[in-house]
Amino acid sequence: MSAKRILIVGGVAAGSSAATRARRLDEEAEIVVFERGAHVSFANCGLPYHVGDVIEDEEDLLLVSPQTFAERFDIDVRVRHEVLSIDRERRELLVANLGDGSRRKERYDALVLATGAGAFRPPVPGLDLPGVFTLRTVPESRELRQWLDAREAKRAVVVGAGFVGLETAENLRHRGLDVTVVEFQNQVIPALDAEMATPVAEHLREQGVELVLGDGLSAIEETREGAMRVRTGQGKALDADVVILALGVRPRTDLAKRAGITTGPRGGVVVDGAMRTNDPHIWAVGDVAEDRCVITGGARLLPLAGPANRQGRMAADSIYGREMQFRGVQGTSVCGLFGMTVAMTGLGQGALASELDIEDRSITLHPKDHVSYYPGAEKIHLKLIYEAKTGRVLGAQAVGQAGVAKRIDVIAMDIQMGATVFDLEQAELCYAPQFGAAKDPVNMAGMIAANELRGDLPAAAWRELVGADALLVDVREADEFERGHVEGAINLPLSELRGRLDELPTDRDILLYCQSGKRSYDAVRALHQRGYRARTLVGGMESYLHQA
Ligand code: FAD
Repeated sequence: MSAKRILIVGGVAAGSSAATRARRLDEEAEIVVFERGAHVSFANCGLPYHVGDVIEDEEDLLLVSPQTFAERFDIDVRVRHEVLSIDRERRELLVANLGDGSRRKERYDALVLATGAGAFRPPVPGLDLPGVFTLRTVPESRELRQWLDAREAKRAVVVGAGFVGLETAENLRHRGLDVTVVEFQNQVIPALDAEMATPVAEHLREQGVELVLGDGLSAIEETREGAMRVRTGQGKALDADVVILALGVRPRTDLAKRAGITTGPRGGVVVDGAMRTNDPHIWAVGDVAEDRCVITGGARLLPLAGPANRQGRMAADSIYGREMQFRGVQGTSVCGLFGMTVAMTGLGQGALASELDIEDRSITLHPKDHVSYYPGAEKIHLKLIYEAKTGRVLGAQAVGQAGVAKRIDVIAMDIQMGATVFDLEQAELCYAPQFGAAKDPVNMAGMIAANELRGDLPAAAWRELVGADALLVDVREADEFERGHVEGAINLPLSELRGRLDELPTDRDILLYCQSGKRSYDAVRALHQRGYRARTLVGGMESYLHQA
């Protein structure tokens, strides 16, 4: 039997993974990767840091060269080769050599589409001006750096406040530029629930990043050679020496569509659990593929490196009859911004409301990343979202300086295993003073949520305060109350509560809060057992201050 011929279109995260896994499974196969760009297997996640000189040498972004692919894996990588079309009947590709302009037909037994996603460019005038950049490839980062150096650029406008836009903003600040970020939504990182985005926005402003939120790009004009004015829908005019577009990406499906490969409601290529398309000889992996959302079961796009790598590997398995099933995506992601970490997994309450007909609940807590008696403890704002009926964990979001990704990774695995808040309550996690707490923030989140679901902790969200005819009680000490409290609240410290019960009504709702929700929990327990209609305001003052 002749050797299998596996062709792969696209040679970055997903394509490279598919190629190397295929080789590990089959020494005989002929494996060819076509990449229209000049590089394969490069670290696009590192591009913003190269712009900011954190990663100084461009070479460090080039993880594996075509030569290494050839020597180490006997994989034929052809850069500057664009696949123009797929003849599914003949199982042939038409490939253009972008170097000499020649074209060739290439036969395949199995074809993997790993064509990725392209930057979204809205139909707005001025996007083609020379000082407007997207940041997806090594040559783009090189051009951007050259532009910044040659013009001695001082003012940057970044359009889009998602992870890539904000990472780029941080790195432009590292280079000393004045940076304004324009975002159409009313908050940064639109995937976060609004109150979780507040501390991120505050932190960015503290670092000198100007934020224009709730406003969109409407035009970019050239004011003189190399200088631009960015106009927004709300009439702002922002002068800039450089503009970065970071408005998200769209799956690159042209090649697949022209060949009659099915695409789905979110615009990606439809695949089964083994990453196979509607053609049994063609697989699609990475940013070009549409995934199944673990939480909703519906279609979801998640253009991230982790799924791309795992899917590439899985497609190779499937080509060799190892029918692994991709579990779907849940949106686990992390971003570092000026020393702050923002991480999330699953869906936030905003997304849940529009995507799933389910009653969800949430709790927010503000623990330290490790016990406060050990030096260097930092606060984590942690929100846990779960199903009211079952306690199934639906999502988590966290913001802080240390230990953030660890907590979200633990909860991510819980979500993948279909775990509940009762499982988080019981989770056995590592602890020593410098790493966590005997009740880790993840346990604490589970315990609070479990208390809430069992009825031990009657809770209310801060938004429920609006228009409520409830007595608002601040149970912090008097000096804390004096330093600032919620309008309309009376002060009844927890330490005095049991002696002053006669000051509280038995025939009216009572909403209690403290700094983080801990003391008000104890107060609610004390009152609840005495028949008072008391509830705690989730997350205390910390959460109140983050309300949008
Ligand atoms: P791509 O990496 O887009 O590769 C697809 C390749 O296919 C491209 O090189 C393209 O030239 C080639 N191609 C397309 N069509 C053809 C054709 N017809 N013929 C030949 N070649 C073709 N993800 C994270 O998880 N964490 C991060 O921190 C992170 N940071 C990022 C920062 C930046 C600036 C960017 C741009 C992305 C970041 N990502 C991050 C996303 C991550 O890089 C992508 O999800 C991942 O690279 C997707 O891999 P892919 O192989 O599917 O697609």
